[in-house]
Amino acid sequence: MKAISIDIGGSHAVCAVIEDARILAAQRIGVADASSFAALLPELTSAARALLRECGLAAADCAGVAVSFPGIVDPFSARIFSTPKGKYDDSASVDLQQWSRERFGLPLRIENDARMALLGERFCGSLQGCGDAVMLTLGTGVGGAVMTGGCLLRGKHFQAGLGGHLPALFDGRPCICGSRGCTEAEASTWALPEICRRWPGFAQSALADAPALDFATVFQCSRTGDAVAMAVRDRCLAVWAAGIVGLIHAFDPDAVVLGGAVMQSADQILPFVKDYVHAHAWTPWGKVRIGRAALGGDAGLLGAAPLLQEGVSA
Ligand SMILES: [Zn+2]
Repeated sequence: MKAISIDIGGSHAVCAVIEDARILAAQRIGVADASSFAALLPELTSAARALLRECGLAAADCAGVAVSFPGIVDPFSARIFSTPKGKYDDSASVDLQQWSRERFGLPLRIENDARMALLGERFCGSLQGCGDAVMLTLGTGVGGAVMTGGCLLRGKHFQAGLGGHLPALFDGRPCICGSRGCTEAEASTWALPEICRRWPGFAQSALADAPALDFATVFQCSRTGDAVAMAVRDRCLAVWAAGIVGLIHAFDPDAVVLGGAVMQSADQILPFVKDYVHAHAWTPWGKVRIGRAALGGDAGLLGAAPLLQEGVSA
């Protein structure tokens, strides 16, 4: 199956032409105005047309357009229900299926970005042959997705399994979703600067002089023995690991896969998470496999073929 595959992020989008598990061509597009999704569509149109030309293909050679989106969406009507505050605020009024029909003459499906990453990993990554899995993406926020019995778990209102918003602390930090103490509010890239600044001893820490308070910085300063960085790191690791235990008890997977940009520090994340989960998860049948996503940033793009196939058969 050939398809146009689009991965929408907060600061950039990637447009690609894929054939099954291969990316034939791809182009990264900077998002100049993150508040407007409509403003991005003309750029996506031009990029997709240029990529099709580069591949010697016409739109009619493709089965459809697949879109990975950071929000709550209905994959089949392509309606977007909710986005992070300040990102693509006009999404609900954008008719993506009409855009795809008019520009390419193709059907369009959309899916939440964590679910697309899970679809991609199942199709051609670390979850091949595994139909019962949880995916957690550690990045700006914390994305989550669940597959059970080979089917994505979506729920009636398309919110099921959004694991970043399960509570880690009932009286914790305010979250962008309106709740408190979510895994995302307690340990994500957007929450990290405030967590660091409020940590006792921050002013004396190497973190105070760092140009950016992101996880790469926290893990780097931890390696050099900075006490505050190590304490923040250990707390975030515990939040993620406890969140994973909750997801295992809720959804009974064979495997949990961790993806997202923060996993560039997988050497400091996976050993702790594995030890914690194997010590605390109630799994009398055996051990849940804990691993790293294999496809990196391409997972969402490579979820296109299974998503469009599901659309055809639904
Ligand atoms: Zn939340």
